[in-house]
Amino acid sequence: MGRRKSNRKPPPKRKNIEPLDLLFNCPFCNHEKSCEVKMDKARNSGRVTCRVCLEDFQTNTNILSEPIDVYNDWIDACESAN
Ligand SMILES: [Zn+2]
Repeated sequence: MGRRKSNRKPPPKRKNIEPLDLLFNCPFCNHEKSCEVKMDKARNSGRVTCRVCLEDFQTNTNILSEPIDVYNDWIDACESAN
């Protein structure tokens, strides 16, 4: 039986707390990172606005919603509109 000396687990990675990515690509004007999401937790709503073409979209959110969810709702709404 061989002894394994190097069976050490790597130290657990500390998750860096990064600011959430709040900028997304616009489905209307196709600019990259031009859409900014603002979460209004108090009103359970989220709003995404493109600062280039000024398209905007508002959706209901819940306590678990992330900006990406608001953006995904927007994309879904765009696709179902087409
Ligand atoms: Zn746009």
